[in-house]
Amino acid sequence: MKLVEPIIAFQSELQQIRRDLHAHPELCYEEVRTSDVVAAKLTEWGIPVVRGLGLTGVVGIIQNGTSGRAIGLRADMDALPMQEINTFAHASKHEGKMHACGHDGHTSMLLGAAHHLAQHRDFDGTVYLIFQPAEEGGAGARRMIEDGLFERFPMEAVYGMHNWPGMPAGAFGVCEGPMMASSNEFHVTIRGKGAHAAQPHKGIDPIMVAVQIAQAWQTIITRNKSPLDTAVLSITQIHAGSATNVIPDDAKMVGTVRTFTTEVLDLVEQRMRVLAENIAAGFDAEVDFAFKRNYPPLVNHAKETRFAVDVMKAVAGADKVDDQVEPTMGAEDFAFFLQEKPGCYIFLGNGDGDHRDGGHGLGPCVLHNGSYDFNDNLLPIGASFWVRLAETALPLAR
Ligand SMILES: [Zn+2]
Ligand SMILES: [Zn+2]
Repeated sequence: MKLVEPIIAFQSELQQIRRDLHAHPELCYEEVRTSDVVAAKLTEWGIPVVRGLGLTGVVGIIQNGTSGRAIGLRADMDALPMQEINTFAHASKHEGKMHACGHDGHTSMLLGAAHHLAQHRDFDGTVYLIFQPAEEGGAGARRMIEDGLFERFPMEAVYGMHNWPGMPAGAFGVCEGPMMASSNEFHVTIRGKGAHAAQPHKGIDPIMVAVQIAQAWQTIITRNKSPLDTAVLSITQIHAGSATNVIPDDAKMVGTVRTFTTEVLDLVEQRMRVLAENIAAGFDAEVDFAFKRNYPPLVNHAKETRFAVDVMKAVAGADKVDDQVEPTMGAEDFAFFLQEKPGCYIFLGNGDGDHRDGGHGLGPCVLHNGSYDFNDNLLPIGASFWVRLAETALPLAR
C-alpha cells in the first residue's frame, strides 16, 4: 500500500466522522443532518459548497491552477429503511434506519480526500466533490443531473466507488463495460371471471392464466435472447384468491428484470408484454401490464477504467487489483452519471467482517444485512485513491 501520508494521520478524525454518520442514518432525500455535516466540514476546510441539487445533495468545489479541466468524484449519503442488529457504540440511533450499505463510509472517504486536496492542492484544474442523496431506490443521481449538475459543474469524467464485502479488505475491483445491471420491475394483473370452484366452466380462471404466463416468460430467457447475453427474470410475488372453493376474479404477478444492456431489456420487456397479452386473450382474460425501468445498466467506459486501474495499482499494488472483476446483477444509480459522462465505478473490498467491533450482530457482514458495518480500515485507502486519481487526472505542469 502506498497511501497518502497525511491522510493516514487523519484517519482517526475520519473514523469519528464515519461513526457519527453511521449512528445517524437518514433515508432517501431526507439526508438533512448528513448534508449539514458534509457542508460544515467542507466549509471548515475552506472548500466552497453548492447545496440543493437533488434536494439534499452537496457539491464541493476545489479549484487550483489555471487549467480549465475538471473531474467529479461521487459519494452517496443515504441509508436503508431497516433495523440495525449491532449494539456497538456507533450503532444506529434512528429506529428502523441503518447504514447497511456503507454509504457512511463512502461519504467519509470522499471527505478525507477533500480535506487533503484542499490543503495540498497538488493538481491543476477543478475537482468537484459530489455528495449524492437517495441512491437506494430514489435515483438521486438522476435528480442531481436534472438539477443541472453537469451544466453548472462541467467535468470531463466522473468516478464512483462502493465498498464490497467478501472481497479482501483494501483490494480493488473493476471491469470495462457493464459491471452492474439495469433494474426494472413489473406489475401485472390478470382479470378473469370469478366462479364457484366446483363450477369452473362458468368463470374464467385467472390463476391458470397466470401460471401459463409465468411459464412462457422463462422462454424469453432461454429461447429469445442470445445465450451470450445476460438477463434475469424473477417473479417474486403471485397473489390470487381467498378461499378453497372460490375461483377469484383476478390474479397479480410482481417481479424484477435485470439486464446488462438496454437492447436486451427492450427485447425482454417487449416479449413479456406480447406473451402476457396473447396468452390472456387465448383464455378470454384481460391483462394490465405495467413495466417500470428503475436504474439503467452501469457501463464503465474503457479509457477511464484503464486510467483508474493504473491509479489503483499505484495505491494498492498490482496484486490487490482485479481489473476483470465479476459483474453483479445488482443495480446502482451511478449508472445515470455514466450515461452522461465518461467515467467508471469501482469496488473496494470490505473484507469478511472481522473488522467489526464487539457487539455486532450474528449475521454476516454483507450489504443490506442488519449486522453489517463499514470497515474503517478502508478510510485512508479510499481517500488516498481519490486523491491520487485527482492528482493524476489533473497533473500540475512540472
Ligand atoms: Zn445498497
Ligand atoms: Zn450502496
